[in-house]
Amino acid sequence: MSEKFQAVVIGGGPGGYVCAIRLAQLGLKTACIESRGSLGGTCLNVGCIPSKSLLNLSEEFHKVKGLAKKGIEIENVKLNLDKMMKSKDKAVTVLTKGVEFLLKKNKVTYFKGHGSFKSKNEISIKDDQNKEKLIKTEKTIIASGSIPLSLPGIEIDEKIIVSSTGALKLDKVPKKMIVVGGGYIGLEMGSVWSRLGAEVQVVEFLDHITPGMDKEISLEFMKILKKQGIKFNMQNKVEKIKKNDSGAIVLTVDKDGNKNSFECDVVLIAVGRKPNTKDLNLEALGVELDEKKRIKTDKTFKTNIEDVYAIGDVIVGPMLAHKAEDEGIAVAENIVGQSGHVNYSTIPGVIYTTPEVASIGKTEEQLKENKKKYKVGKFSFMANSRAKAIDDIEGFVKILADEKTDKVLGAHIIGPHAGELIAEIGIAMEFGASAEDIARTCHAHPTFSEAVKEAALSVDKRAIHS
Ligand code: FAD
Ligand code: NAD
Repeated sequence: MSEKFQAVVIGGGPGGYVCAIRLAQLGLKTACIESRGSLGGTCLNVGCIPSKSLLNLSEEFHKVKGLAKKGIEIENVKLNLDKMMKSKDKAVTVLTKGVEFLLKKNKVTYFKGHGSFKSKNEISIKDDQNKEKLIKTEKTIIASGSIPLSLPGIEIDEKIIVSSTGALKLDKVPKKMIVVGGGYIGLEMGSVWSRLGAEVQVVEFLDHITPGMDKEISLEFMKILKKQGIKFNMQNKVEKIKKNDSGAIVLTVDKDGNKNSFECDVVLIAVGRKPNTKDLNLEALGVELDEKKRIKTDKTFKTNIEDVYAIGDVIVGPMLAHKAEDEGIAVAENIVGQSGHVNYSTIPGVIYTTPEVASIGKTEEQLKENKKKYKVGKFSFMANSRAKAIDDIEGFVKILADEKTDKVLGAHIIGPHAGELIAEIGIAMEFGASAEDIARTCHAHPTFSEAVKEAALSVDKRAIHS
């Protein structure tokens, strides 16, 4: 007899494991199926966590080398890449094991194996020996995530032509690295390898990096990255990548039809990710997909098939871990009859480069397109006392507020700790705050957060320190 569950989650990433824990907290007998052998999904295993670990370690290495001019002289600063990678791997192991503990603590049954639908209420789990087990379920939540996208005719071998997964575990620093795509992954991983000594060149299809980001921030970001030594080849489309004895040659064509070629030892393909719906047997079940092959759901995360739900990277929306987590909680609450809900207008996005880049809500371009009248408040970190004290002055805070009501519509920050500072704006937006509400809130001195307060003051043209 197959074991029976009230809810089964397919996928143990930030969407899936969080959803499973919330379902169990709400009293449902829950199982979570994960095929990769460890929990935490893309995020913990080959995404957010290892990339942030390497971003931090490479930044420390880079900073130590620059300390001499501040009076701290350390001789013979050397890179031990092997140790650095081990340190990153340790962070991953600690966290993935931590998720396993959390599932146990919440009495979620964890199945290691590949899950697929036998029928709407019966799930097959195949382990790595291809041994099959069947379980019964009342509700199923698909949280199967996403996988790297490649370009037509280009095969990722994770050695010379790598995705983010290969870029997180190179065994030596490449002399020359070509990064195809100037988005989140390209700029984070490009920064890592540039700081460790690679000559990094980005090849980007568009005329600007980080599409969708506020243009003023995007331009400032590119300027800063250029100063750090990363080269940009904009409006270049990759036509072919030829592997040779020493690495590869990337052949591109620019907007005027000129052909370019870039020699390198490693090419990182970072042109986006695609939903992972492989071998779930969705076709047989009749689950509808959209034009981008994402699983279609309604606002409560129900698919077109009764009792089957989907969340995270496999459905529409930004491919971000916190978005997947919030959807995991919302769908669990909806399943037990509560009113689970995700506010998509206040999902922050953060790029963990130096400086960090963070945004929430509308960009200036979106407000213009929607013909919304708005005011802008800006404040530079150059005039922030904490930033000055520690010589971390690059970037600025930009707040966009409704021209009439002063309600905060969006905020964009490039600068130190931008990823932490954006949380304040998130809370403000959730509470429907005005720029004046932020400006009249006491902020500790000397902190970077005073730059947020000053930007809010600047919306009303009354910043004090600029
Ligand atoms: P995933 O995390 O992809 O998890 C899905 C899991 O389901 C996988 O472990 C997969 O093995 C499993 N699975 C799939 N099919 C089956 C099946 N049939 N049976 C059993 N198991 C299955 N986001 C951020 O918010 N911040 C960051 O800093 C950040 N950095 C990133 C860096 C990199 C290099 C990458 C690649 C991504 C990064 N992301 C970041 C994006 C983030 O990782 C994803 O948005 C997030 O992991 C999506 O969560 P998910 O649960 O929907 O899917
Ligand atoms: P992306 O969508 O962020 O960027 C892809 C870039 O590639 C874009 O600038 C695009 O114009 C460019 N591009 C597309 N086709 C191209 C071509 N043929 N030639 C040259 N350039 C081309 O995608 P990504 O960087 O691969 O990251 C995937 C997703 O993973 C992100 O969208 C994000 O959701 C998530 N992620 C998040 C973080 C974070 O939160 N810090 C970090 C890494 C990844």
